[in-house]
Amino acid sequence: MRAPISPPVLTAQMSLNRRGESRGDEGFIAAKLADGRARVLALFDLKVPILPSDDGASACLRWLSLDEARFMAEPLELAFLGEDISGSPVFACNFAPDQIASTGTAADAMKPLVDLRSLAIQGVLAEAELLAAAQARALFAWSSVNRFCARCGAAVQAADAGWRRHCTACGLDAHPRMDPAVIMLISREDRCLLGHEHRFPDKFYSTLAGFVEPGDDIEHAVRREVKEEAGIEIGEVRYVASQPWPFPHSLMIGCWGQALSEAISFDAREIADARWFRREEVRAMLENRHAGGITVPPPISMAHTLIRGFVERAIGD
Ligand SMILES: [Zn+2]
Repeated sequence: MRAPISPPVLTAQMSLNRRGESRGDEGFIAAKLADGRARVLALFDLKVPILPSDDGASACLRWLSLDEARFMAEPLELAFLGEDISGSPVFACNFAPDQIASTGTAADAMKPLVDLRSLAIQGVLAEAELLAAAQARALFAWSSVNRFCARCGAAVQAADAGWRRHCTACGLDAHPRMDPAVIMLISREDRCLLGHEHRFPDKFYSTLAGFVEPGDDIEHAVRREVKEEAGIEIGEVRYVASQPWPFPHSLMIGCWGQALSEAISFDAREIADARWFRREEVRAMLENRHAGGITVPPPISMAHTLIRGFVERAIGD
């Protein structure tokens, strides 16, 4: 019997109760804003304020009260993220670079401000906090580049507590965007295919990945990307797991694909290397004891989930 897959670290099952059905209800949002337990995650040009532990091994988010957030900028565009497990309202805002300048020392007092991606990779935040920050970052990464209507160019207004941008000139509504991407562990019996991109650190290999394009379905995107990047034909494709990847706003769709051919041919402009690795060699890479010093992505990533799944025989032939 096949081993169960270890679920991704960044799983939305752990996230806030978003109360999406009530976002458009102004009375509901007003009540949440009046709730004394309400707290705000203020992003600064999408960077996250944290309180590191004394030894630096862990950190927690630095939350503000509504009054503290409003003290920095008024009017403040707040997005309602949802309610935490105790029912307390959770909001977020993002200060653009020009707003940060106008807050003066208030923003300085929130330092350190850290890139969420590096926090995620280091694994220093508790999962629930990482997810709240990921939700806020993805939402504001979208809204900060959707300040004008895509159809008529007029300035848009935030609606539904930050989850919609409405153009009063032509009526167009814009909703937060997610970019679906496939990421796939390709295997052939006891070996799997990993690639090294030009932007990767030396001796770092990962699963192949690519965006789902218009007209693709998931299976086609997997087959197309592997053919483009490594020249390998893929037969069966199975969905494994998914996770949000808010850099800026992707949904990673983790799959397994069965290779029908072995000869690798890649376009050196696309990828620096692609190779077949045996399962035991991949296990050594996962455990940071590979003889050649090759490493793979950290536990926060979908690539890690897939590679671990292959090593543990949860996915594969
Ligand atoms: Zn418009």
